[in-house]
Amino acid sequence: MLAKTAGGRPRPSGGAGKKRSFPCPYPGCRNPGNGPRFRWFCKTHMKLPVREQNRILAERVAKNGGASLTVRKRGASPMKGRKLDLHCRVEGCKNMSRGPRFGFICDEHRKKLSAKEQQAARDKWKAARAKAA
Ligand SMILES: [Zn+2]
Ligand SMILES: [Zn+2]
Repeated sequence: MLAKTAGGRPRPSGGAGKKRSFPCPYPGCRNPGNGPRFRWFCKTHMKLPVREQNRILAERVAKNGGASLTVRKRGASPMKGRKLDLHCRVEGCKNMSRGPRFGFICDEHRKKLSAKEQQAARDKWKAARAKAA
């Protein structure tokens, strides 16, 4: 038996809850995109003829200096500047927090630490950042 397509990239498991969304690519449109199947056109603009959509996407790509809509690689997105850092603010913790609503503290540490300690962790994190910048 020959090996089938070898070298599949290992995927981190449990990423199912991670949803990415993009705004509608139509110029000036503020609606949220309707998913990759519609190439992120919103409900209104997904009805545009495919040729028109292609033109819009091509223009967008040109404007972004070649950055395409398919965001595969993580890392710098020149449009947004710095991305929100969702890492848990507790020093040395590699977990992801659920964002600002949770004070950027991971579930584990939200359970373990008091509100005060969480605040302290955030302060420390901020101080460390300020130093690095
Ligand atoms: Zn739209
Ligand atoms: Zn943590």
